[in-house]
Amino acid sequence: MLLAQSSATAPFAKSVLAWYDQFGRKHLPWQQNKTLYGVWLSEVMLQQTQVATVIPYFERFMQRFPTIIDLADAPLDEVLHLWTGLGYYARARNLHQSAQIIRDQYQGNFPTEFEQVQALKGIGRSTAGAILSSCLNAPYPILDGNVKRVLSRYFTVEGWAGEKKVENQLWQLSTEVTPTQRVADFNQAMMDIGAMVCTRTKPKCALCPLSAKCGANLQQNWQDYPAKKPKKTLPERQSYFLIWQQQGKVALEQRENAGLWGGLYCFPQFDSKQDLLAYLARQNVDFYQEWPAFRHTFSHFHLMIHPIYVKQEYHGEDANRSDWKKVGENHGKYESSIQSAVKYWYDPQNPDQIGLAMPVKNLLLQLAKGKE
Ligand code: SF4
Repeated sequence: MLLAQSSATAPFAKSVLAWYDQFGRKHLPWQQNKTLYGVWLSEVMLQQTQVATVIPYFERFMQRFPTIIDLADAPLDEVLHLWTGLGYYARARNLHQSAQIIRDQYQGNFPTEFEQVQALKGIGRSTAGAILSSCLNAPYPILDGNVKRVLSRYFTVEGWAGEKKVENQLWQLSTEVTPTQRVADFNQAMMDIGAMVCTRTKPKCALCPLSAKCGANLQQNWQDYPAKKPKKTLPERQSYFLIWQQQGKVALEQRENAGLWGGLYCFPQFDSKQDLLAYLARQNVDFYQEWPAFRHTFSHFHLMIHPIYVKQEYHGEDANRSDWKKVGENHGKYESSIQSAVKYWYDPQNPDQIGLAMPVKNLLLQLAKGKE
């Protein structure tokens, strides 16, 4: 939505811009020699992630993929490898796919029409607005998590922003307060105020340019805004990871490109211990170790991970060791839900450039440190 600021909201923008001139962030890597590509990359990386975390990832990406075409032409595995540790891997897959669309449909030039930008994979209204306003000063409001918090508190907006009605109200407010001039600076300032002043806990209202008219500050109840997401208990699923080592290498499988950890490499996964042991029995593996289980949380569920370690060369010479258990024979039918497309032996000493799911990366580190 293009902007039409009223005189009633102009003082808001004036205060925010004055603050920006003095305190706003102007030295972030993607703010130097700004390009649509760099700002796009930074905006995607910054979704659900803090600036300090993003900076080294951004710099590595720009060094390895200096242009959109470099990114589009790179194998997805390499993109995921560089993304490892940043989380929310769908962002990396979308980025790669969008780079290919830009290469094929826009000759490698990032589009400048709002609808074209929003049509790219993984770019919503706020990100499209942020990119175009930041690079072209185009008049689009934004509504990322930081801006939502500032507006919710200033206007004491009731209700959880995940509800459509509340989100629409916040978009309306964002549109009203955003000026028609210096949109890039204003949007950056709003993100900065959210990140640096109007923080989730202990906002620094005394330093805030909006404090004089901020509803939450005047009522001293900033804790109530934005309203928290209604609590629901996340279900817990179980997964048995088979860490299979052979001559120093470890078996990994690539997950399908969509869904959780899509395109990343993981240990073979089983739904139950019985499935996993049945599989080992079929492979004539006699002994295994159980490592401590741990929990990995996704947005919709917890995954309880039970690592089971097997070393092909180990044939029970030292079978009295209590941490090795015998596989046994009668484990029933092997019914694993492995969906792998590729299986290969990963060499931790000489690792390929592939994307690893975070728990897999941590378990490989544990293995390297000599867990057994
Ligand atoms: S006055 Fe306080 S609560 Fe209001 S916007 Fe500023 S920092 Fe946030």
